[in-house]
This record gives sequence, C-alpha cells and structure tokens, in this order.
Amino acid sequence: MINIVGSGLAGLSAAIHLAKKGKKTNLISVQESERAQSVMAEGGINAALNTMGENDDESLHYEDTLKGGAYLGEPEAIANLTHNAPEIVNWLKEIGVPFEYKDGHIVQRNFGGQKNKRTAYVKSSTGKMLMSALIDEARKYEVKGLIKRYCHHRVYDLLIENNECKGLVLVDTYTNNAYELYGEVILASGGLTGFFPGYTTGSKDNDGQLVSKLFSKGLKMANLEMIQYHPTTINITGKRLLVSEAARGEGGRFMTYKDNKPYYFMEDLYPEQKNLVTRDVASRTIYQIQNDPTCKGIYLDMTGIDKNILYTRLKDMVNEVKDYTGVDIGLKPFEIKPGIHYFMGGVYVDNKHQTSIKGLYAAGECACKYHGANRLGGNSLLGAIYGGKVASESVNDDNNETYVEVENKYEEVSDSYSYKIRDILLSGLGIIRDEESIKEAINKIDEVLESKLTNAEKEKAVFAKAMLLAALNRKESRGAHYRKDYPTSDDNYKKTTLISYDGQINIEYLDIH
Ligand SMILES: Cc1cc2nc3c(=O)[nH]c(=O)nc-3n(C[C@H](O)[C@H](O)[C@H](O)COP(=O)(O)OP(=O)(O)OC[C@H]3O[C@@H](n4cnc5c(N)ncnc54)[C@H](O)[C@@H]3O)c2cc1C
Repeated sequence: MINIVGSGLAGLSAAIHLAKKGKKTNLISVQESERAQSVMAEGGINAALNTMGENDDESLHYEDTLKGGAYLGEPEAIANLTHNAPEIVNWLKEIGVPFEYKDGHIVQRNFGGQKNKRTAYVKSSTGKMLMSALIDEARKYEVKGLIKRYCHHRVYDLLIENNECKGLVLVDTYTNNAYELYGEVILASGGLTGFFPGYTTGSKDNDGQLVSKLFSKGLKMANLEMIQYHPTTINITGKRLLVSEAARGEGGRFMTYKDNKPYYFMEDLYPEQKNLVTRDVASRTIYQIQNDPTCKGIYLDMTGIDKNILYTRLKDMVNEVKDYTGVDIGLKPFEIKPGIHYFMGGVYVDNKHQTSIKGLYAAGECACKYHGANRLGGNSLLGAIYGGKVASESVNDDNNETYVEVENKYEEVSDSYSYKIRDILLSGLGIIRDEESIKEAINKIDEVLESKLTNAEKEKAVFAKAMLLAALNRKESRGAHYRKDYPTSDDNYKKTTLISYDGQINIEYLDIH
C-alpha cells in the first residue's frame, strides 16, 4: 500500500496518478479535501499555452521562474516543470476545470514577474475549481477501491528504521484511536503555516508539526530562510486575507499619499514592471514606505478597472473583501499590508521527489524544489500537481494492506506556545533582516529550549531555530531573504541551504547544477 499524507492538490494528484496505474493508496488528511488550503488559491495556474498569440513558450516560462527565484531554483527541475505545464493544464481542462475561454481558447492573465500572459484561471476561484475537478476524479477511483480516504485523521509520526520509511502512525481525530499503516509514504502536507498563526494567508491545519518531528528524526530540509511575504493582504481576525495578485494582473495599482494626493509609487520606482514587480520587491518597498512615520497607509486602487471585468473575473475577491471589511473595491482604494503567504523552503527532495529518507517522498508546498528564493504567482498550483505526479512515478508499492491499532502518542502543541514561537520567528525573519535581530531571536529560542517542554514543543522550537540559523548563515540578500547588513547578492551563496539535525543543527550548501 502507498500512503499519502495530505489531500490538497499535491496529494490528490499523486493518488489519481497512482490509481490510473492500478495502484492502491491511503489518502490521509486532517480535513476533507474540500477544506485543504489548495481550495483558497485564487489567481491561477501557469503554463505557456500561447493560445492567443502571446508569443509565449516553455523556455520563457523557465527563464521567468529561474529569474523570479533569484537563481536558487534548480534549472533541470524547473525545465521539467515548465515543459510539463501545458500538458497539466490541458489535463485539467479535460477533467472539467471551467477555465475562462474566448473563441474556444483558454484566456490567460498577467501575473507578477512574468513577461507574458501565462496564468490560466477561473475567475478568482481557481483553487476551488481545480480541487473540485480533482476531487471528482479521485472519487471515481475511490469507488473502485483504489483510493481509500482517511479524513479527520492526523499523521503524527513515521515509522523509520535505519533511514528507511516503513509506514506511518495516525490518529483518528474523532475517536482518538491511533493506527500504524505500512508502506512507502508521500508527504503532501502543505506549507509551514503553523509557525506563523494569525499572520499568514494559509490554512491553520498545516501546522508543520509532522515535519518538525521528522526533522528531529534526521529528515533533511532546504532553504528554510526563504519565506514569501505577499504584498497585498488584509488583517482580519485570526489570519491574513489574501488579495490575489490577479488584482494587479487585471490593473490594480499600489497607492499611498504624497502631499495629500494619491501617489502610485511602484509606477515611479519601477517604470518597467510597475505594479507587477515580484512579490519580494513589492513587499520590501511597501515595508520601507510604511515605516516612514509620515506614511498615511498603503492602498490598492482598483477603481480604474473596467467594472465588467472587476465584477466578473474578480467577483469572489470583490465579495470577500466586502464581506470582511465592508469596502467595495470597485469604488474605493483599500488598505493592504504584506503578510506571510508561501514557504519556498521545506523538505529537501531530488528531481524524483525522493527525500533524504529512503521510501519517503514529498510534493507540493511541504517540499523545496522549484521556487528558489521566491515563488512566482501561479507556479505553486502547477508545482503541487506536477510534484504529486512525479512522486507517484517514484514511489514503490509493497501490496501490504494490513494495519495495526496502537497506543495514541499524539501530543498537541497549544496555541499559546505556537504564538510565542511565532513572535520570536517574526522578530528574526521579517521582510528585512539583519544579524542582530536574527541572533536575538535565536537567543530567545535557546531560552525556550532550556525550559521544560513536551517532545512536540521541543521539536517545534528546534525547527524554528533551524529556520533562524538558515537565515543567519546566508550572508547575502536574495529573493525573499533580504539582509540589511548584506544588501546585495553574493554568488558564493548561489547555493541550496541544506539543513539537518543530529542532536545539533547543521547547515551546509549544495551547488546548483
Ligand atoms: C489564499 C491563497 C491563495 C493562493 N493563490 C494561489 C494561486 O492563485 N496560484 C498558485 O499557484 N498558488 C496559490 N496559492 C498557493 C497554493 O494554493 C498552495 O501552495 C498549494 O495549493 C499547496 O498545495 P498542497 O497540496 O501542497 O497543500 P495543501 O493544499 O495545503 O494541502 C495540505 C494537506 O495536508 C493535510 N495535512 C497537513 N498536515 C497533516 C498531517 N499531519 N496529517 C494528515 N494530513 C495533514 C491537510 O489537511 C491538507 O489536506 C495560494 C495560497 C493561498 C493561501
């Protein structure tokens, strides 16, 4: 049996591709697929379809991805991803994703950091529609007994012997009964949102606890310092509400006030890309302007967008902002702030999505593969579906369907502890960092580590320290990692940060081939 942890896009993609080959999987998730973070994706998925004479092709998609990631992504892996992108979007079309069409062709929109219109979309609900199609597809194989769902189950440990994964341990969150399932494992458990509760656009279910435990057991991580701040989020209770980059793709403009008049600063500062600069550049610029005491707020102005386009193509976004803030974005600029949105770093995998532990694979946002130092909008849905497919081709089946009930040893980490770790991390891993602030944060984590902790709390603190050490050691600025004390890029660091734990945290750098 093959076990998949997570039933968002990456997990579903892996399960469907395995089922197509007649392989059986256990598809395990804390919540139903309908509540995975993938559902929240708004703006779209990238592929150089060139359906409407955009002069686009996969080599341009490859170049933009590599450049957007500040040359920290792996060229061969990115070439594979961008080469396979049109096939993936055409597959999505076949299984019923209702993309926007004109004259029988998929329409594509602009997204930040890309030269061409390359982002296929379904209004501002792309994730929901992609997931709906994949859930339906998976259902066909569930009926045939090829996919077995374990919803409301949390995987809290893996069975690892001599650096080989033999299965996993999961708890039924309704009954608290725990079981071992055997066979190889694909991790598709999403990003590290749980390290920044209340401050990210993502799902709280992706608490990062399993990955923290596995790190403490020797699983290697990569580029943990690369955390994407999205420039356009709205502060609402309990989380940051994302205003998708599609807002800017359709003509939204950053604005502040200068001499009491609207000032569209990005257009002045970046005359070439204007409002479509990459997310790292936009967030840093906003952060710097916001920190000026005379700043009267940063806004997104969408009032100039054709109302027919705004209220149709971005309908869900318009409604969401209105529901949560009362503002009709077609009539009035609204205040935004950068917030944490995506984790480029995560479980280190090779081009086959094999991790450093035999029999364990990782795909989707939990894995570090395609996005280098900064992910381009529209590339993560693609990376999740493609990564799931590649992992499905690498994993081995042992045809063992047994499972055993075991004692439940799941340890929950309290919200108050998670918030404490979050505040320390935010003080060291902000949009702009320096040695002093990172070291201060490390000292605070060391103090936490010296206190009385449960195993799960210790694992979380050790992982947090690994994130901070990765940021401390990278003495340069690149993509999302901006160091005030090293403001330029240094080719000596054009390398993957590889982070491991053997009782202490070790950092080394891997050449990018
Ligand atoms: C608001 C928002 C908008 C976005 N818009 C876009 C966009 O327009 N284009 C784009 O390309 N990307 C976008 N992204 C990013 C993209 O949605 C994600 O990177 C991608 O969907 C991640 O898919 P995934 O399958 O890796 O993880 P997820 O969809 O996060 O799924 C993770 C799964 O793992 C399960 N899980 C977690 N821990 C455990 C555990 N211990 N045991 C069992 N199950 C577990 C969860 O229940 C879930 O099923 C957006 C993200 C957000 C938050």
